[in-house]
Amino acid sequence: MQATPGVTLRRSFKFLLRPTARQAAALAACLEDHRTLYNAALEHRRTAYAKAGVSVRYGDQSADLKHIRADDPYGQARWSFSSQQATLRRLDRAFTAFFTRIRQGRRPGYPRFKGRGRFDTVEWPKDGDGCRWDSQPGHPTVTFLRLQGVGHVRVHRHRRVAGTVKTISVTREGTRWYVVLSCDEVPGHALPATGAVVGIDMGVASLLTTSDGEHLVNPGHLAASADRLAAAQRNLARKQRRSQRRRKAVARVAALHAHVRRQRLDGAHKTALALIRGYDVIVHEDLRIANLTRSASGTVERPGRKVAQKTGLNRSILDAGWGVFLTILSHKAESAGRELIAVNPAGTSRTCARCRHCAADNRVTQAEFRCTACGHAAHADVNAAENILRAGLALRRATEAA
Ligand SMILES: [Zn+2]
Repeated sequence: MQATPGVTLRRSFKFLLRPTARQAAALAACLEDHRTLYNAALEHRRTAYAKAGVSVRYGDQSADLKHIRADDPYGQARWSFSSQQATLRRLDRAFTAFFTRIRQGRRPGYPRFKGRGRFDTVEWPKDGDGCRWDSQPGHPTVTFLRLQGVGHVRVHRHRRVAGTVKTISVTREGTRWYVVLSCDEVPGHALPATGAVVGIDMGVASLLTTSDGEHLVNPGHLAASADRLAAAQRNLARKQRRSQRRRKAVARVAALHAHVRRQRLDGAHKTALALIRGYDVIVHEDLRIANLTRSASGTVERPGRKVAQKTGLNRSILDAGWGVFLTILSHKAESAGRELIAVNPAGTSRTCARCRHCAADNRVTQAEFRCTACGHAAHADVNAAENILRAGLALRRATEAA
């Protein structure tokens, strides 16, 4: 791989933290205080609106933060002002998203209070402000992250960090702590052209099928994890509140969730890398459009159909998998100088890739496609992937001509 001159990217790097017991306790307290702040700010907005019809804004709450810190010198004031502002901004974004969805005629849930275990990330918006990446650069072997109120925490830095560190987040996953660095000006790496193009269909039996007929990810191991997760959740539901057994069951569910996340990430990285190496142009379904038609909750105009069938845990794990995969694929494509095209998936599974005849009867079963007009027979997902590729190349020609 060679560096692409002039191409720089924004990219994140994630590393495991190795806090001491005292630092881990401080991290937990930091997270807990930010959660309390988030919930207090949410409560403030709710009551101000309910009692006086007043909309509280981010600017008002940021100004209040000074008083909150002054009143709580051994609590909230221990942490960085900037990370607390970032938490208030996160609440502000939740409200913005809520009102946007209302304007779109959807039925969003009102921003919720974050219970224990539902608030896992604190962000520091600027390196050097309440936090410092590589805080002891002279150390020969270990990299440290300094966090205000926590100290210099050891980082398991398994790869080099490129570019300039902009924001720093710390996140808890089960019993582990991670740091996520968001970096600017990361140099891109171009891959040599292959002259090949591909369409990918995102399905259920195979997570991905290419127009070349390859079935890339078998989600069987994800489905197995989903079964274990479902069993653990049923087990949790039977436990008495505040019991020791319940706490253990909660930990088990959290550990399984983390396991699924790691499996999914690992599979997504490998698959995305294979596609990026093999093809110059990759066409996929636009997940935002696909999700509008798949959405279990539906919209006001079109309430969800087959809701029960679509809300299964397996289904949600696959849906999340596609989102994660496309995010990773787009980062790798951008970095390698590959072209990624998203197309409207409407009709791609019912249309014949050979003669373009479009009918629901063309799809014989989940896996089998046979055209009622020309007799073309193919694996249904491969046929769909070919249609996706054709739609992407047509879109590309149209935008190049314009
Ligand atoms: Zn046909």
